[in-house]
Amino acid sequence: MKKSVVEQFFLRLREANPAPTTELEYATPFQLLIAVILSAQATDVGVNKATAKLFPRAPTAADMLALGEEGLTEYIKTIGLYRTKARNVIATCRILVEQHGGEVPQEREALEALPGVGRKTANVVLNTAFGQPTIAVDTHIFRLGNRTGLAPGKTVLEVEQKLLRVVPGAFLKDAHHWLILHGRYVCKARKPECARCCVADLCGFKGKTVA
Ligand code: SF4
Repeated sequence: MKKSVVEQFFLRLREANPAPTTELEYATPFQLLIAVILSAQATDVGVNKATAKLFPRAPTAADMLALGEEGLTEYIKTIGLYRTKARNVIATCRILVEQHGGEVPQEREALEALPGVGRKTANVVLNTAFGQPTIAVDTHIFRLGNRTGLAPGKTVLEVEQKLLRVVPGAFLKDAHHWLILHGRYVCKARKPECARCCVADLCGFKGKTVA
């Protein structure tokens, strides 16, 4: 995709949604981190439902550590893979309390050292909690990058690195949210809604739908 087309692509996404953000509900970087860990292979709606009760009960890493694995399980058992997630969350809280003064570190390496936190989760936290220009490539962004021709790649890392190269600086901080929301609600996996897509004339997908 040509540079001028990429620029136009993001101008349109920004016009449609000037202040995009995550659909996960949180009040602090710690709560965002926990919500993102819980959201692996689960819906944001399902996670929000659980955290609406969990976060008032255990708003900080120290509180959640005190709640313990069994206590935490009671709040998150409606979420897929909850046993593994409960174990990871408590282990993460322990490291935050013991090594980071209860705060979420702002460095990628320290974040990725936390149990249950991979590159994608670290990217979401760095971007959404700390405003860093990272792009967390999930299934929606991977599909969109390839389908549109914006950032084709065989792996999520390849797509992430291409996006970081081609997205103009002015759009980098919010690109992650624009692309996820566009993939979730318009450029859907099975049947993209090309007829109502604001970037249809810029998109290189050969199989565009008509209605
Ligand atoms: S035109 Fe269709 S395939 Fe291209 S970005 Fe829009 S919805 Fe996706």
